[in-house]
Amino acid sequence: MDDCIFCQIVAGDIPSRTVYEDDDVLAFLDANPLAPGHTLVIPKDHHESLNALPEELGSEVMSALHRLTPAVEDAVDAPASTVAFNNGEAAGQEVPHVHGHIVPRFEDDGGRPIHALVSDRPDLSDDELDDIAAEISG
Ligand code: AMP
Ligand code: ZN
Repeated sequence: MDDCIFCQIVAGDIPSRTVYEDDDVLAFLDANPLAPGHTLVIPKDHHESLNALPEELGSEVMSALHRLTPAVEDAVDAPASTVAFNNGEAAGQEVPHVHGHIVPRFEDDGGRPIHALVSDRPDLSDDELDDIAAEISG
């Protein structure tokens, strides 16, 4: 993907502050960090969303996130972190190459929990919740 900024980072055509690399995964500091240590973890192969990511590669990305999260927190003395994917444009994903964010969090950093993602929560009945659960589980 010639026009993908993260593919260009993988290829070495755009510089990054790399913090981890293996055959399948690259992790580097976010260029516009929400907090010191804000790190992105990506598969080296181009896949737009988690939905398109082969399961094995998803496991490699998760494994790297799992290893790097405590390392990132320790590096900046953070007591916590928010680890998340913006998965698809409607969810705020701007770079269409799968990436997990590790955002170190601090007491009184003014940040919000994941429950603050939407301002209008749906008011779903028990029947609607049952239907959705059935739809998901197939
Ligand atoms: P998202 O909104 O989830 O697609 O996040 C994309 C992230 O990529 C943002 O946090 C940007 O700051 C970050 N970003 C964009 N370009 C670069 C770059 N060249 N190097 C490092 N991070 C980048
Ligand atoms: Zn890409």
